[in-house]
Amino acid sequence: MALEIIGGKTVTPYRVIEEGYIRVEEGEITAVGPLSTAGGEGRGLEAVEGGATERVDVHGKIVMPGFIDLHVHGGGGADTMDATYDALNTMSLVHAAGGTTAMVPATVSAPMERVMRSVEAVEEAMRRGVRGARVLGIHLEGPYISRAQRGAQEEEYIREPTREEVQELVAHAATIKAITAAPEVPGVFGLAREMSSRGVLMSIGHSDATVYDVEKALEAGFTHVTHLYSGCSTVKRVNAFRYPGVIEAAYLFDGLSVDIIADGKHLPPYLIKLILKNKGVGSVNVITDAMRAAGMPPGKYKLGDQEVIVDQGVAWLPDRSAFAGSVSTMGEMAKVLIRDVGLSLTEVAAMTSTNPAKLLGLKGKGALAVGKDADVVILNDDFSVYATIVEGKFAYGPRK
Ligand SMILES: [Zn+2]
Ligand SMILES: [Zn+2]
Repeated sequence: MALEIIGGKTVTPYRVIEEGYIRVEEGEITAVGPLSTAGGEGRGLEAVEGGATERVDVHGKIVMPGFIDLHVHGGGGADTMDATYDALNTMSLVHAAGGTTAMVPATVSAPMERVMRSVEAVEEAMRRGVRGARVLGIHLEGPYISRAQRGAQEEEYIREPTREEVQELVAHAATIKAITAAPEVPGVFGLAREMSSRGVLMSIGHSDATVYDVEKALEAGFTHVTHLYSGCSTVKRVNAFRYPGVIEAAYLFDGLSVDIIADGKHLPPYLIKLILKNKGVGSVNVITDAMRAAGMPPGKYKLGDQEVIVDQGVAWLPDRSAFAGSVSTMGEMAKVLIRDVGLSLTEVAAMTSTNPAKLLGLKGKGALAVGKDADVVILNDDFSVYATIVEGKFAYGPRK
């Protein structure tokens, strides 16, 4: 059965159509345009009489391409490190309720056997499918990171990559979509060359690198920076001389895209504006970096083996010296970007869907356009999520 989404404020890569029309057939978008011309008085709408088309009237709502989350640890009490199909299914449902239609679950620093168990769970979720946001692959955050910039990552598991570990990761390169690592850690350049040549996004993160390390990292295949300003070095002085860090390198090198945790806590609006001014909308991606308490009440939770406190809409280290991940969904972040940062719907769609689709090499996702997968999020006029459609099927909302 075909699906038509009519009357909503519809956000395409090129414009916002005030009263839009989208037709979906077999999970794919087959028409997009103004309702007045795309079937408003024509055959498109009359076809419903035959029962072959389901029509959803969303006048007064906003229709955007589904959010793609490059980096999400958990939600609904579940975590990627639980390494089970059920945990990934729970995460996919909680984040679908937040407007995410595709996601890359993320690990934390842990022994190799535990990381590989999560890789296998993600492979199972990809094979069997989940009920919410589609699982695209896995993001390995750590363990090849800087102790000085570890944040909530556990110090005892942080290490240098061994030849055996690199071989094991290469064997799973089809599942691994991204690796966050610190370029200054010995052995990471070898890993970057192996993985980037196999299409894995190599991202600088939890790193104390200088701009000179980043320069070499670009040559080794790094193209991205993870959660800019969190776990990132900045200018430091050594014997009176100043050394730019990861933050300055991210601004300096056009070859680096970045992602940001736009939960309204990790980055104040002015820093988000500074990032956008320097990198441009096309190089900035929104991630949730959400941990298992996303969609759950405040309290004590685990991030890896470490205890964290969830309070005031964010996760904290127990001593409250730093944040330990977000508890927000992509939908909550879109709301922050629209309301608090003042971005347009087109800009938000680029940062939450179009750019991450490009980064992950997903030609069939990231825009409301003919030929793309019907991954759609429908927002109420207060920017809360009304419904989420994953590949043509309602994963969240009144019609689910
Ligand atoms: Zn992190
Ligand atoms: Zn993370």
